[in-house]
Amino acid sequence: MTISTNDLDPGFKFEIANVPGNELIKHCFTCGACIAVCPVNNVCSEFDPRKIIHMVILGLKKRVLSSENIWYCSHCESCRFSCPQGVRSSKVMDALQTIAVRDNYVAADAFQKFATAPCKVACPAHISIQGFIGMIAEGRYRDGLKLIKEEMPFPCICGRICFHPCENKCNRGKVDEPVAIEYLKRFLADRDLAGDINYVPETEEKKDEKIAVIGAGPAGLSAAYFLAIKGYPVTVFEKLPVAGGMMAVGIPAYRLPRDILRKEIKTIIDMGVEIKSGVTLGKDITIESLRNEGYKAFFIAVGRHASRGLNVKGENLEGIIHGINFLKDISLKGKVSIGERVIVIGGGNVAIDVALTALRSGAKEVLIVCLEGRDEMHAWEYEIKDALDEGIAIINNWGPRRFIGKNGHVKSIEFKHCTAVLDANGSFNPQYDESELMTLEADTVLLSIGQACDMSFTKGVPDLEVSPMGPVVKDPFTLETNIPGIFVGGDASYGPRSVVEAVASGKKAAISTDRYLRGEDIKADRSQKWNSIEFESQNVKLADRQQMQRLSIDRRKNSFKEIDSGFSELQARLEAKRCLRICGTQIKGMVSVHG
Ligand SMILES: Cc1cc2nc3c(=O)[nH]c(=O)nc-3n(C[C@H](O)[C@H](O)[C@H](O)COP(=O)(O)OP(=O)(O)OC[C@H]3O[C@@H](n4cnc5c(N)ncnc54)[C@H](O)[C@@H]3O)c2cc1C
Repeated sequence: MTISTNDLDPGFKFEIANVPGNELIKHCFTCGACIAVCPVNNVCSEFDPRKIIHMVILGLKKRVLSSENIWYCSHCESCRFSCPQGVRSSKVMDALQTIAVRDNYVAADAFQKFATAPCKVACPAHISIQGFIGMIAEGRYRDGLKLIKEEMPFPCICGRICFHPCENKCNRGKVDEPVAIEYLKRFLADRDLAGDINYVPETEEKKDEKIAVIGAGPAGLSAAYFLAIKGYPVTVFEKLPVAGGMMAVGIPAYRLPRDILRKEIKTIIDMGVEIKSGVTLGKDITIESLRNEGYKAFFIAVGRHASRGLNVKGENLEGIIHGINFLKDISLKGKVSIGERVIVIGGGNVAIDVALTALRSGAKEVLIVCLEGRDEMHAWEYEIKDALDEGIAIINNWGPRRFIGKNGHVKSIEFKHCTAVLDANGSFNPQYDESELMTLEADTVLLSIGQACDMSFTKGVPDLEVSPMGPVVKDPFTLETNIPGIFVGGDASYGPRSVVEAVASGKKAAISTDRYLRGEDIKADRSQKWNSIEFESQNVKLADRQQMQRLSIDRRKNSFKEIDSGFSELQARLEAKRCLRICGTQIKGMVSVHG
């Protein structure tokens, strides 16, 4: 649908521009681009922003919007990204709402009950998912990518490895299968990195205050990204020789190719962020030394790179390696020598990555042994399936009792039967039946039983409040610590989670840092409540979810080649069209305009 200014009443522009006291509305020149893309407008002609604008501006005081269904804005933000003026159209609508309510033109309900699509609510970074999917459907790839990059710097990475909570909430799943949101994000981002889009976000006018970020994982890099957009000079100090944190030295390359990671980090560097690798807080630098160099605010996001121990006899034998050290060495050195028979201990996602990496590093047989029953395992079901497909056996409900060695090298493990992992309060407190034992032989044992925060960084910031779990965050919305101007986030602050949650944390830190440096209230309006509305699926045509091409199981085993190969353009367009686009917008009821 194309709307030109000719479609609008003469004098409309004049009237809008003359609404008293509302600067936002003055920017609108009523081209109608926002209305053309609005999914609500496309399904319900009664929800035509122009009509509402007319009602408000021209004072049409008596009018029934609809007798049955009222459609509400779902905050997909397509309108905002369609605006050639860069006007925040949704803000224009908000302003109109205020005026409408103030002047009693329409029932407050018609505007006020905005809801947000459940996919956007579920995404920790709150990406406007309906919006970018709508743009793929229309072939507007650059706009779609820009919309994603408003909320996160790593669509290429998260399009591959995100645990996609958005898809669990996708209403299409109630009809047939959820929309492949993760892969659609990857489609857009891959086109960007292939050179079709070449999008580097604009940065505001340069500011003076230097900011130091400690740790170049997704939390630190995201904070740097959002602060660079605000115009701040940011330096990221990273202990390792490479940037990316666990994205570079944890997540295996067959799921996240390193050239993809490097390219997405390069965009952040192109925005003016400096990354200094091989610099450790607490060894090479301290917060005080950075203050002396002129840094005014700090974000510490050092992750969880220490391994938990088992406290089991024989644990220090040769051939017993901590899983995250194993993955780190593979990423940094290329190869680690392991035996032919490998046992991985642990039942989480990291254990699966460790096991599949062992298989690609020369092991002939890999077993995973964990305390949890099959249904209690922390690993995602799709990851467990990948492990089973590649021939890894999983043995549930056993915990190590002792490691048995020969000439100082591990030879076998004695296990005891685990009868329960959690206690009545749901806390981790495994119970065993020690009358039931099992011994398994192993040349190499890889321990994947949890990550801890390496607290040696605190030597560089001795006054920081810490607990045995890591640095203490005073407020989860602002990430403030006990020291003004020092913020802490990512896995270090809340435990091992995910890339998208680290991104969300970095974004919060950037908002806090900016407000701190401008002397503003850091806390004001930070705890946003999201309102998503139940969707009733009616008359939705069934459509199969597009399937991604995957490397055959035989070709996966001895290679770190990426397993998934991405959607073709046709697949992406077809998949995008599966999005219902109207979730969170429909409420039954009647709204009338009062006089
Ligand atoms: C094996 C594995 C697989 C995973 N798979 C997935 C997945 O598929 N999907 C997903 O969403 N998440 C996954 N995760 C989790 C995800 O990688 C983390 O949640 C995320 O990287 C945390 O981000 P962060 O920035 O807080 O910390 P990190 O990524 O850990 O980054 C912290 C950085 O700080 C640096 N640093 C530490 N101490 C210092 C110091 N003193 N001075 C300077 N720098 C320092 C570290 O070297 C590191 O680069 C996985 C994690 C692992 C271990």
